[in-house]
Amino acid sequence: MENLGLIHELPVELSNQIAAGEVIERPASVVKELVENAIDAKATQVLITVYQSGLRSIEINDNGVGIAPDDVEIAFQPHTTSKISTDHDLFNVKTLGFRGEALASIASVSKLTVVTSTDGKSAVKAEFSGNSLLKKETHARSKGTTITVEDLFFNTPARLKYVKSLHTELNKIVDIVDRLAMGHPEISFRLIHEGKDLVWTSGNDNLQQTIAGIYGRTIASHMYSFENSDADYQIKGFFSKPDTTRSNRSYISLILNGRYIRNYQLANAVIRGYGSKLMIGRFPIAIIDINLDPSLVDINVHPTKQEVRLTNEGHIADLISDGIKQKLSTQNLIPDAVKNLERKTTVDQIERPEQISLDDLSMVEHISEPEPDSKPITTEKSSIEELESHPIFDDPEHLKSWDERLKEETEPTESVSTFPDLHYIGQIHGTYLVAESPEGFYLIDQHAAQERVNYEYYRKQIGEVAADQQRLLVPIVLDYPNSESILIREKKPILESIGLYLDDFGQNSFVVNTHPTWFVAGQEESTIREMIDYVLNDSKISVAAFREKNAIMMSCKRAIKANQHLDDKQAAFLLKNLAKAENPYNCPHGRPVLIEFSNRDLEKMFKRIQDSHDTRESE
Ligand code: ADP
Ligand code: MG
Repeated sequence: MENLGLIHELPVELSNQIAAGEVIERPASVVKELVENAIDAKATQVLITVYQSGLRSIEINDNGVGIAPDDVEIAFQPHTTSKISTDHDLFNVKTLGFRGEALASIASVSKLTVVTSTDGKSAVKAEFSGNSLLKKETHARSKGTTITVEDLFFNTPARLKYVKSLHTELNKIVDIVDRLAMGHPEISFRLIHEGKDLVWTSGNDNLQQTIAGIYGRTIASHMYSFENSDADYQIKGFFSKPDTTRSNRSYISLILNGRYIRNYQLANAVIRGYGSKLMIGRFPIAIIDINLDPSLVDINVHPTKQEVRLTNEGHIADLISDGIKQKLSTQNLIPDAVKNLERKTTVDQIERPEQISLDDLSMVEHISEPEPDSKPITTEKSSIEELESHPIFDDPEHLKSWDERLKEETEPTESVSTFPDLHYIGQIHGTYLVAESPEGFYLIDQHAAQERVNYEYYRKQIGEVAADQQRLLVPIVLDYPNSESILIREKKPILESIGLYLDDFGQNSFVVNTHPTWFVAGQEESTIREMIDYVLNDSKISVAAFREKNAIMMSCKRAIKANQHLDDKQAAFLLKNLAKAENPYNCPHGRPVLIEFSNRDLEKMFKRIQDSHDTRESE
């Protein structure tokens, strides 16, 4: 074919900008790439200083191996990397980066300065603007690299348009740093935005302390830990108690071989582990650390390398949900009345760390080292005074209590049943039951308790395929519009999985002649209609989810409502059944069934003893 001469190579600058469009979408992508480079460079401390959500400047300061003076310019060329050189390497990647695109891409859309030293004596400083090297000179700094990115997207205004509000962009940055920090508890990360610490992890290789540096100590110390491994997979993690939740699932973090990943099925496994202990529409905070042979993972799936394919994903999911379920089954989950009152209602606000200081103070040197040319914004922050004003995390006293707390939190409980031995006392307002045990007294929501007991009964019934059928005296005929009839006909197997058999009765009608024996008498038709609605509302509903929904619906139908008098016998019977429940703590919707006023709380409330701090004096 004749060459019309229209095809030509793109100017380097333009092709870099196009590449940048793929990798560098927003300020957070810059943070991600540069911090990953610092991690790959074996840094133990990474300081990220950001202004205006990264649009004004992003500075990443690390104490890694540095870039050799002669390599500085090369590193900023596209497809230059020190991390792989053969195709063999490509399949054995242990570093976070390997494509060699990031630096070139970032430099093509910003004003970038790099100061780097491999020996801590001599350093090189180079300035780029839109990919052209403006200046290269010798400099001084400790071993490591500082990269400053200013005026991001100054030459690609179209990209700026995609940048969302400053608030959203900052959230994305925090999110990235959180996740990288969780994947690397052995590295201390500190993120400062406009002079404010947002993340500060200890870097002492303790995942729970890392979580404290991200979500705050209160949350970290109230998490449960679990481990569940087999020959191929090692899984460990931390997860919040069912009453500490968030309104979306983004607080579930998955770390695979030290790399943060996204995987819907595995995140779902976490939620599944809680079963009905979570309130509907609420999600836990969890960090799940998965380790496996790298050959079982395909990391090279998505350009930003977060979607990961796994062989045997279902099995890993089961290890996660079983591990969480197992741990929760050994815990006393009765909410403490007093703590509940004290707790602030704004649980949804991210509790950013109570400042945690670093392992050693070498970071101070590192941070405050004067860099002759650096902008004032980078030198006035993070002074030694600021560091010293933080409670020192490694203060032995502090550490001791922390460790003790951890031990308490993570030690396996011996007896499996922690449910108190309840003795019924009376009913209040026709709604709550009062009971006592040797440990304290309890208020029980009678409706929630009944729902729980019923739910477990129905879940069992509904799960048994060979459910006994009862013949209806008068068959029930159901009419549905055409489109719905088609769907219902298609979904018959799901309905049959719980013992509901529909026979065709003309084009748009069905007839039901029998129903499972566990139906509530007099409510047959409404029950059947609700069951069909579940299928119509969610045509992809799984058998498991369908059974679950029905068990909840049935337990609600049958439960006693509030304002209903129970005689002593009925109430005692309910409590007895509750104690036998697999999860007596929450109703199927996740609301608490009972709250506890421990003897200790009562003594505190009546000032028979002082607050926990002074107990020794008063006892
Ligand atoms: P990649 O990470 O895929 O190799 P990059 O463009 O991100 O590609 O980086 C190019 C090269 O620059 C890296 O391979 C590494 O050798 C060097 N480099 C980048 N950042 C750092 C850093 N913070 N410390 C040491 N070397 C670095
Ligand atoms: Mg990289």
